[in-house]
Amino acid sequence: MARYLVTGGAGYVGSHTVLALLDRGDEVVVLDDLSKGHRGAVAAGAKLVQGRCDDRAALADAFAQGPFEAVLHFAALSLVGDSMRDPMRYIGENLGGVAAVAGAAAKAGCRKFVLSSTAALFGFPERIPIDEEQRLEPVSAYGESKLVCERALSWAERVHGLRFAALRYFNAAGADPAGRAGEDHDPETHLVPLAIGAALGTRPPLTVFGTDYETPDGTCIRDYVHVTDLAEAHLRVLPLLDHRSVRYNLGNGTGYSVKQVLETVGQVAGRPVPHAFGPRREGDPASLVASSARLRADTGWTPRFPALEDIVRTAWAWHAAHPQGYGDRTTG
Ligand code: UDP
Repeated sequence: MARYLVTGGAGYVGSHTVLALLDRGDEVVVLDDLSKGHRGAVAAGAKLVQGRCDDRAALADAFAQGPFEAVLHFAALSLVGDSMRDPMRYIGENLGGVAAVAGAAAKAGCRKFVLSSTAALFGFPERIPIDEEQRLEPVSAYGESKLVCERALSWAERVHGLRFAALRYFNAAGADPAGRAGEDHDPETHLVPLAIGAALGTRPPLTVFGTDYETPDGTCIRDYVHVTDLAEAHLRVLPLLDHRSVRYNLGNGTGYSVKQVLETVGQVAGRPVPHAFGPRREGDPASLVASSARLRADTGWTPRFPALEDIVRTAWAWHAAHPQGYGDRTTG
């Protein structure tokens, strides 16, 4: 048993990772300002310190609950479109968060750090599937913000001996199979919850962004990976940090088009997803599919829920049981 600090533990991937840690008997302290996360998403077994990652007092409070075996840093701004309206905020806040948390970790003698990174590092990729050797060339300020975070951590490694794992998530989707947590963003921009909301009637009909991509059915292809499998990957990389820092692309390795996702949601819902076809969304690459071969080989990670139907089914169950999400939305 060990104790972990999880920033952003009230958010989507963070809350599922907290559950995974608690399920295996670890202790968890969550640092979250609840600006995007939800109090109801913090598992009862975790301790919540409410505050920003760049707030010295909040960080001091959090680290006073240590010592921590590692810090898992999820707290970040994560909307691609938003980042193109306010790029300096994205780069400033995301880098500032990593700098503050990694700095405080090193000072407290905690030298293991897991960073939520993103497929957006690769921009418009040259080859599919995308392995770790591909060029890092973000096409959004969000992607850039995570690239500079990864780079910044290598300085913490060089100077303070802090080892880090940068996990480049592809499309996180689904919900805790036991129904304890789910996905609730405001605004929601992700395909699976929007399609489910459209089918449930809790959200308007979905707009498919572009039908003229160079893909078999003309819609974008993405690699949807179950959030519980993502969470598990965080646990799997921790032992590696005894020896070295690592960077992994994290996805299922199978791509599904927007139309295929809508079909699957329709099958799970038992009724078609109301939708219309619209123009492309700026900055969307035609296809993003991960090669997680390196992660699998190094850690033995294999997704427990690789099938899109299982991913959608767990998400559907959570949304059907929580039509208003965690029920603390102030807008939307
Ligand atoms: N998408 C869509 N309509 C929507 C939201 C998303 O057609 O209302 C498409 C989007 O263009 C992309 C895919 O669904 O091809 C996944 O988008 P999402 O925002 O979920 O994740 P991203 O790939 O941008 O990280």
